[in-house]
Formats: sequence, C-alpha cells, structure tokens
Amino acid sequence: MDSGVFPDWLSMVCLLTPGQRQQAFMALGLAEANDASDEDAIALVCSLGEAVGFAVAGCEEAGREIVGQSRPGVLKTVATTLTAAAQGRVETRGCPYCDEKNVRPWGRASNLPRYRCSNCRRTFNALTGTPLAHLRHKDRWPDQAQALMSGESVAEAAARCGVAYTTAFRWRHRFLVAPALDKPTRLVGIVEADETFILESFKGRRADLPRASRKRGGKPKKTGLSAEQIPVLVARDRAGTTIDGVLPKLDRASVTAVLAGVVTSDNEVCCDGGKAIAAFARAGGIPYHVLPKPGRPKPEAPHLHINNVNAYHSRLKEWLRPFHGVATKNLTHYLGWRRTLETIGHTGAPGLWLSRAMGIGAYR
Ligand SMILES: [Zn+2]
Repeated sequence: MDSGVFPDWLSMVCLLTPGQRQQAFMALGLAEANDASDEDAIALVCSLGEAVGFAVAGCEEAGREIVGQSRPGVLKTVATTLTAAAQGRVETRGCPYCDEKNVRPWGRASNLPRYRCSNCRRTFNALTGTPLAHLRHKDRWPDQAQALMSGESVAEAAARCGVAYTTAFRWRHRFLVAPALDKPTRLVGIVEADETFILESFKGRRADLPRASRKRGGKPKKTGLSAEQIPVLVARDRAGTTIDGVLPKLDRASVTAVLAGVVTSDNEVCCDGGKAIAAFARAGGIPYHVLPKPGRPKPEAPHLHINNVNAYHSRLKEWLRPFHGVATKNLTHYLGWRRTLETIGHTGAPGLWLSRAMGIGAYR
C-alpha cells in the first residue's frame, strides 16, 4: 500500500464493528501466516469467518480417541476427525460459499469426503475456508500437532514432519491462525488482570530494521520499561478461563479493546494498580481492587490477589524462552498457542489440536 494512503486506512480501524474487526484480525493472521504472495489467503479470509463458526462434538471425541494409538490408528483417527468435521459443517453451515443447506455427498478428494452445493454447484470439503485448506501431506499433520504440543522449534518440527523448514514455518502459523482467535466471550466472577512485557522483535525481517538487530532474542538496551517492551495483557478468572491481547499502547483504550464485553460490571477485577486496567474498570463501572503487593493478599481478604495471573505470566515467559525471541508481528499466534496448551495440555491429543487448527475451538 502506498505509504501516503496507509495512515488514512489505519485511521478507519476505529470505525470497524466488532465483527469487522474479527474479520480484519483473521485477514492479518492469514497474511502473516502465508505471506501476501499466496493467492489463496485472500479467498480463505473471505470464508474463514463463517467456517470457524462450525463446531461439532464428534470432532472433539475423535480427537480424544487419538491418545495412545499406533500410527495407523492415529491416521485413521485423523481421517475420522476430518470426516466428522465435514459432516458437522455440512449440517450446521451448509455450503461455505453461499450458505445453501441443500448439499449432497460428491465422492472424495484429497482423502476427504467432498460435497456439492445444489445452489451454486461448487464442491467443497471439511477444510474449505479454514486455515488448513490447500495444505498438503495430511498424514503428517498429527506430527505437526505433536510439534505444537511439545513447543518445538521450526527446525525440530520440520525434522519431525519430514518437510522443508519453510513448510514447517508456514504450517506452524497456519495451524495457529484459528487458536489465536479462539478467545472466551465472558469471564466469570473474580478476574485477575495484569500486564506483562515481551521484548520487541523483528525476527525474520531482513531489511528496514528500525534499529540494529539483537542476537538470539537478546536483551533490551534500557533496563525497565521502554518502547522495546511490548505490553501484553492477560486476564484470567478463577476457573482458569483466560483472555489475552497484545496492547498497541499501555492505555485504557487498548485494554478496553481486549476486555470489552468479556469483563463487565458482573465481575470483580483484581489488579496491581496499573493505570490502564484501573481506568478500564472505572469507565465500565466494574468493581476493582488494587493490590499493591502481588503475592501478599490482605489477611482480611485472602481471596483478592493476582497470583494466578502472575503465575500464568511466568509460565508464558518460561515457555517462550527457547524460541529466543518471537517476532512481534506473530506474537498473537504465540499467545493463542500458549492459551491452547493451557486448555488442552502438552500431551496426548493431536486430534484436539487438529480440531483447534481447523477452527473448532473451545469458544467458537
Ligand atoms: Zn453454494
């Protein structure tokens, strides 16, 4: 885009409805995942918003069954998972192109049941319009899911899946588009909210760096907070339901963009006195408690603390450490990756990961 036009385009972002914002997030996510050169990205984005809305219990069950299976068993379960997704999608969404419900089986293609729409006459399968559409080597997807569960580097994932490094990188980010968007729409009861900071990184960018590059993640030039530190907000209720977001700025508007509608006056917010979160709570009429000493709740109110959200921060940063810095532009993918790990664990359910990657999330 022309650099003169870009500021105007950017200034229109505040006019977007929540639904449009979601679509824009998806568009950006896919663009990052697959680079602008992939022609399919645009087409995928158009239908992804609809596609990620389908959910099917059969997929989750098929995903759970994968635990402890041999490789042929795993492959069979992957096929079952994909087939269940196809059936569930046909039942709930109909045609991904025109929403027509009258569709019928139309053989198989790429190892998946295919359907044909009676209205627009186009054919589709379970993956049409999802971030996994057009990715090949489905038999290796369980390995990719395992690589995500184990938090492996791109090189390790490439070796595990037997694919090129660039393919493993593309797979990683395609598999993370949907989990990054799968966020709770409500938190319940007491909510602990706090921000943490992650070092800005231009990893992967080879030109136009705004500063000299750091080696392997590196250290910030200045100690304490600076523009090099990217604020990340995490809010977590006592049931462990978690929402997070990268904050463009540490201010009320940015916090509101993440928490609006999710944390309301029905909740009670515990925070450490950071101005942005307190300002968000005040503006929304949300009761909030400022806890000046994290980890040391007052004896008269032992339940008011932010220990859980701080523990989450610690786990997040510890888990990020082996990546030696993640590109800031991909940070939302890593946050979604971590949230998914916290929800479904590090072991045993590649099928669940596949479901998540297909947009069948816990909240969608
Ligand atoms: Zn159609």
